Amino acid sequence: MDQALKESISSWLEGRAEAVGFAPVERFGDAPEEHHPSQVCKDAATVIVLGKTTPRAVLASPGYNLHLLHRSYHTIYPFLDELGLELANWLEEQGHLAVQVPSYAPMVFRDLEPWGVLSLKHAAVRAGLGAFGRSDMVYHPKYGSLLRFGAVVTDAELPGGPVIEEEPCPPDCSACHEVCPPSAFQDGSFQKMMCLGHTIKHGIYKLALTSAEDFQFIERIINTAGYNYWLDCDECLKVCPLNNRKKV
Ligand code: SF4
Ligand code: SF4
Repeated sequence: MDQALKESISSWLEGRAEAVGFAPVERFGDAPEEHHPSQVCKDAATVIVLGKTTPRAVLASPGYNLHLLHRSYHTIYPFLDELGLELANWLEEQGHLAVQVPSYAPMVFRDLEPWGVLSLKHAAVRAGLGAFGRSDMVYHPKYGSLLRFGAVVTDAELPGGPVIEEEPCPPDCSACHEVCPPSAFQDGSFQKMMCLGHTIKHGIYKLALTSAEDFQFIERIINTAGYNYWLDCDECLKVCPLNNRKKV
């Protein structure tokens, strides 16, 4: 394990990302084979996860909450992509293999369900950056679910950070379930496609996806012209007490 390299990476990222975590590849034993770090980088040994936050005040904006959240996300995604690319190139300068995992797209479609190349939420949990809450989002102790994540997979063997075991939600809270307009939380599980259908809107879809035949190109469309999506809902973010704590 290369503790010195880990410290160099952490200091290189200081002031650029609010959260940085290290997950040894052994922690991905239960990841689907097609979305395992070893499919991203040859001889993968560590996933370095980067988190950048949206300001809390965006959720409380009286008139432009969704406009501002949309722009926040789409500002953070390319920022994390550039950071990941720079870090991957820097690691390669040190003699390692390293591949950046983009923070949003490209996505892979399985039965019309979008998957990340690597699940960044699961990677964040395995890197000790948070734990899953009852909303199925990952909650960081300071930033709640306002972090967007990116990552770099490398063959460098770096020590992992401690994993957060505690459940983040207060015992009596179910505010996100109660507020969800399409009732995407059913029988204790999160119906991802119900949420996406209600929340994520791509302007290009109405033009590009007009027949069953068009859907065979959905991956190409979303990863190019459909990259920039609109948000129609963030009710679960706004009601969550974990997103409304004062930052300390
Ligand atoms: S974003 Fe909206 S639709 Fe999706 S889970 Fe949250 S409240 Fe429900
Ligand atoms: S609203 Fe409550 S139950 Fe839902 S994620 Fe936040 S703390 Fe957990």
